[in-house]
Amino acid sequence: MTDEPSKSHGRLNIGATLAPRELITDRPDLAGAWTAKIITLFPETFPGVLGASLTGKALQDGLWKLEPIDLRLFGEGKHRNVDDTPAGGGAGMVLRPDIMGRAIQFAQKNAPQDRTRWPLVYLSPRGKPFDQQTARRFAAADGITMICGRFEGLDQRVIDHYDIEEVSIGDYVLTGGEIAAQAILDATIRLRAGVLGNATSTEDESFSEGLLEHPQYTRPADWEGHKVPDVLTSGDHGKVAEWRQKEAEHLTRTRRPDLWRAYTAKPENNSTD
Ligand code: SAM
Repeated sequence: MTDEPSKSHGRLNIGATLAPRELITDRPDLAGAWTAKIITLFPETFPGVLGASLTGKALQDGLWKLEPIDLRLFGEGKHRNVDDTPAGGGAGMVLRPDIMGRAIQFAQKNAPQDRTRWPLVYLSPRGKPFDQQTARRFAAADGITMICGRFEGLDQRVIDHYDIEEVSIGDYVLTGGEIAAQAILDATIRLRAGVLGNATSTEDESFSEGLLEHPQYTRPADWEGHKVPDVLTSGDHGKVAEWRQKEAEHLTRTRRPDLWRAYTAKPENNSTD
């Protein structure tokens, strides 16, 4: 297995990979593109849903790059084993630190050591809940390495040794980290310049100002007797903005008291409600 550093030849990036070039992609390989390295036992599940729509087009256009790293290739023995039974007993299997350590070394070889420029993340139900602020932080980096767990998860020593950031997508347990990685990547990539057609579209959506978004409507103006609120068809932009702000505040207050508390705690959001 080779993992020579990448060499930049103008805009094209040339680097050793774990798979033959023609099996990977016909996408432009642009030097400096935001890159997601994903350590997984199921590399074939990527790009998955990220290959569709705007994230898919951005991938095709070389606005971001995907490097799935097959954990199995670092396994040992005839069956390339990557796991073993839990120390202390109990059900299931645990991903071995030595195997995962080699995969991490491979992934990090060409990545900046500075974690603000290149976060090293383990998807884990025990992690810090993923939110829009974290998506912004990841999007501001040069790329990210994500570790998808399976079975009972990852040996704690490898998490401690590499000081890996644990991130959760919610209080429930998935079978593996791949769906979590794709959810986080989707939220992150759409914040990168050029990925969404309309540059303003991430500015007034849910969480951008600490509020949930107001309800949305479109034509027909009357559907099954349900009308679009008059204010939205009035042509009065000031009134529309005021209505949207009130609705956003109402939704946040009633659905997400945690967000509402944080929003009203800010001096600039002093509310009369
Ligand atoms: N034994 C672990 C526990 O109870 O915390 C659960 C392991 S889970 C079956 C297997 C893998 O799925 C985890 O290592 C993690 O990578 C991923 N995973 C499961 N739920 C997740 C969540 N809510 N957020 C992020 N990743 C998750």
